[in-house]
Amino acid sequence: MAEGLPRVRTRGVKAWLSIMNGCNNFCSYCIVPYVRGRERSRRPEEILREAEELVRGGCRDITLLGQNVNSYGRGLPETVDFADLLRAMNGIPGDFRIRFMTSHPKDATDKLFETMGSCEKCAGHLHLPVQSGSDRILRAMNRGYTARQYLDRAEAARRCVPGLVLTTDIIVGFPGETEEDFQATLDLVERVEYDSMFTFLYSRRPGTAAAALPETASRPELQDRFRRLVDRANAISARLHRAQEGKVLRVLIDGLAEGEYPLTSRTDGGRLVHLRGGEELVGSWARVRITGSNTFALFGERQEE
Ligand code: SF4
Repeated sequence: MAEGLPRVRTRGVKAWLSIMNGCNNFCSYCIVPYVRGRERSRRPEEILREAEELVRGGCRDITLLGQNVNSYGRGLPETVDFADLLRAMNGIPGDFRIRFMTSHPKDATDKLFETMGSCEKCAGHLHLPVQSGSDRILRAMNRGYTARQYLDRAEAARRCVPGLVLTTDIIVGFPGETEEDFQATLDLVERVEYDSMFTFLYSRRPGTAAAALPETASRPELQDRFRRLVDRANAISARLHRAQEGKVLRVLIDGLAEGEYPLTSRTDGGRLVHLRGGEELVGSWARVRITGSNTFALFGERQEE
């Protein structure tokens, strides 16, 4: 690839498959469009061939990668979009899951959500980075949507994919962010109820549009906002995880861990489940009853298939 990145990376029964590179969005804080250039989608037949090889080789969980997978297909000679690619992937024979990241909310279509809901191999997980809940800050970030439009996308996704696990990225302390803007972010987080969040303190990237903007809050103020956001996110994660207790879920056992629960596994929505059992189970599917939880993970017991 132009960036010298491998198109396929594998680890055990999981693989990451690059479907495109570059980005046309120019979010004002982000350096990616400058260092990776404009969007270039790979041909669908090439991606499908590599996915088939992965499944034949024992892969059970494929994550399609791109800076904005939702704009996949633009500029290709054939008429194909990301939802079409997902549907074609779903047609590959074998017992495996399809994940993807990252989705830009402004390009997340009803067609994508309907495809996720109707393709049994598409995981029930959507990582939809919101970055801020304040329209003023979203505009300054050049994100191309309002908080209301974002909420509409999240609601549409949940309507189409029952039990969807939603995760996000949030930047705290973008230049000009006031306490009121931050409160709007907390409100949005509470409304959406993310299963988990990646939270970042804003950090200036030289060469980006936002690098020229003056900081308006002090470091201790920003750190306090960050802590309050993480506390809120953790409380929501713990609540959602507790609600999983008692359920029986299908998981893919994908790794080893230390201690009382030596196996790690993932649900369809990508939640981490710790299990007891031997190393030989890595790479297999299992039905598990969720017996406990904390902020970051679930704990389960394997059931008879
Ligand atoms: Fe593109 Fe994502 Fe960077 Fe925005 S944040 S410019 S969508 S890579």
